[in-house]
Amino acid sequence: MSFWPSVVVATPAHSGVGAALTYRSELSLAPGTLVRVPLGAREVLGVVWDCPSQAPAGLSEAQTRDVTGVLEGLPALNASWRQLVRFAAQYYQRSLGEVALAALPPQLRELSSVQLARRLRKRALAASTAGKDALPQEDGGGANGPDLSDEQRESLLALARAQAPVLLFGATGSGKTEVYLRATLQALQSHADAQVLVMVPEINLTPQLEARFRERFEPLFGTGALVCLHSGMTPAQRLAGWLAAHTGSARIVLGTRMAVLASLPGLRLIVVDEEHDPSYKSQEGARYSARDLAVYRAKVETEALAADAVALSQASPHPPSTGSGQAKPLPEGEGVHTPRCQVVLGSATPSLESWHAADQGRYLRLSMPARIGGGALPRLRLVDMNHQPKGAVLSPPLVAAMAERIARGEQCMVLLNRRGYAPVLACHDCGWKSGCPHCSAYRVFHKLDRTLRCHHCGFTERVPRACPDCGNLDIAPVGRGTEQVEEQLAGLLADVKRPDGGPARVARMDADSTRLKGSLELQLATMHSGEVDVLVGTQMIAKGHDFRRITLVAAINADSGLFASDYRAPERLFALLMQAGGRAGRDASFVTAQGSASELWVQTWTPQHPLFAALRAHDFPAFAAQQLAERESAGMPPFGHQALLRADARTQQAAQAWLNAAAQAADGLPHRTDVTLYPAVPLTIQRVANVERAQLLVEAASRGALQRFLSAWQPVMLACRSLPEARGLVRFAVDVDPLVI
Ligand code: ADP
Ligand code: ZN
Ligand code: ZN
Repeated sequence: MSFWPSVVVATPAHSGVGAALTYRSELSLAPGTLVRVPLGAREVLGVVWDCPSQAPAGLSEAQTRDVTGVLEGLPALNASWRQLVRFAAQYYQRSLGEVALAALPPQLRELSSVQLARRLRKRALAASTAGKDALPQEDGGGANGPDLSDEQRESLLALARAQAPVLLFGATGSGKTEVYLRATLQALQSHADAQVLVMVPEINLTPQLEARFRERFEPLFGTGALVCLHSGMTPAQRLAGWLAAHTGSARIVLGTRMAVLASLPGLRLIVVDEEHDPSYKSQEGARYSARDLAVYRAKVETEALAADAVALSQASPHPPSTGSGQAKPLPEGEGVHTPRCQVVLGSATPSLESWHAADQGRYLRLSMPARIGGGALPRLRLVDMNHQPKGAVLSPPLVAAMAERIARGEQCMVLLNRRGYAPVLACHDCGWKSGCPHCSAYRVFHKLDRTLRCHHCGFTERVPRACPDCGNLDIAPVGRGTEQVEEQLAGLLADVKRPDGGPARVARMDADSTRLKGSLELQLATMHSGEVDVLVGTQMIAKGHDFRRITLVAAINADSGLFASDYRAPERLFALLMQAGGRAGRDASFVTAQGSASELWVQTWTPQHPLFAALRAHDFPAFAAQQLAERESAGMPPFGHQALLRADARTQQAAQAWLNAAAQAADGLPHRTDVTLYPAVPLTIQRVANVERAQLLVEAASRGALQRFLSAWQPVMLACRSLPEARGLVRFAVDVDPLVI
């Protein structure tokens, strides 16, 4: 007897290959089984989606190829995971195979069955030895954490009863992490197989959180209980982490956005820390929002658990027992006895989408306005740059304030959203500028290694000795980046002494300084130990870090965000400044003992901007209400819904022509009248790596209408690849709920 499994393999949405391919197998294969199948001349990894014993109508049985092999020893991917993938593919307009296969660790595709079996055996061996100390201990030996603040306790109580996604709106330093830790403990104790997923927006935030979770949970659940999943890991590490999560030996998975698609059969809690962060939105492949998928995933997992519970209670004459008695009985009448998967979105500056959802009651908002230890949020000091010496990068009052703090043994942080030494190198004789030959962008001058580097395509050259156009020897940097500010600060603070008599020390942290493995941890350590007095960096340093001795944070070119045409610019700037300010004064007792007060300095050319009034009052709700009112009147998200069709082509004209043709081809499609299609426009940086980029905006009043239209449009787009307008087209992609338009 033969079976006819439909198998999803990695096919990009625009390859035109449908959702799944049919193969033949002698065995019945459970949906979710990982298999190897032939595809053209290759053999590829696939996921069984369905396995009927009847050949589908119209299938040529003779031409159907056999499944080559099954990945033995690996449990099938469960129904909730498959549902998540199905949803993500459909919502973000990609193929099932592309999303499914991208969610699996790359190495799984390459290992032979023998190699995989060896890995699994090694894992089993390690697990059985680690298991010795892995028994949950009643007394965590000091691993139970501090006494909770009232706000933390109330949040946890509310969380335990919540039936909806929870928006944890907690000030910077209010102790959100402690709430995550306790919620994790509750979830893990609710069931012997329970798993928790904790997400952070950026890799550089994982070391700190990982340390805190390990410290808390390894004594309770053993050393293998926590694994990480992010793109900074080697393929072997990623495979090991994924396997641990998939087989259930890892109880906690800590990762970046990609972790939302990990296989977690026991998932009971998802934490999305800094949920407002744009990094949660993928900018390539399936452009998914990991935050939005987390909310969807929690819902699907809860439905699956509820269905299991019903099946169980029908099957057994006795109501299911609560197991080992670890789970504390919940208060009567709350209706929460059924197991579920919760999702917690945490932020001091929630996304307007989540804030709006809480306004509407779709999410449960829990507020923690106070800082741990009763510390104050930093006072805002605006420096009006119109009244500062011409050309000053760092205003004199700011430098004086920093000098004072350093002399008292406090740390400062200076934020600038540009790495490198200067964004442009220019010749003042002939007007030459360090443009990138491959992009419509300037190459950034990096003084440390004397290079000109394009931050878009990576093209790097040594700095020329003289102007390439006119031979002038006097080519000069224009504007400033982190390298230059670091250099200038070291000069300006040269005479400042620390309390120990040593010279003030300035360090820099950005994508350049943390490129080498281990350098991030090293730099964070020098900051934590107090070796460094001033840390200069990009937004990388503004987020999440729990530096204890910083009392002054300065943003020196904050305005640049305000003049962007992007309607999300104020939201992003407000969040960035709140986050940055949140690094100051985190240790209330230190600030008090110093007789100091923490401050957020912002250098600006527009001190009257209303954003600063809300920032001064630390009033996110007022800022959000004002922004939401503006968005509502303009029909912008979250009130309206958007998607972009993006095209890359050899010329800008070709990119736009194809987009406009695809829009024209949508005429008469079902749901066409529910959406507005705008004319194609070039992207802000329209050429990258010799490819011209353009996009076309689609707007709809409702998410459903947008989805229905996009689904109808997708096959038409594919067909449009054969139009004459497609000459020069390199690729196209749909971006649903884009963050930048
Ligand atoms: P957030 O993530 O909200 O900015 P954190 O979770 O990093 O804040 O907490 C800020 C600091 O307060 C951390 O150093 C943390 O260890 C400490 N902390 C949190 N909760 C408590 C508590 N209940 N008692 C004492 N210290 C706490
Ligand atoms: Zn010149
Ligand atoms: Zn370039």
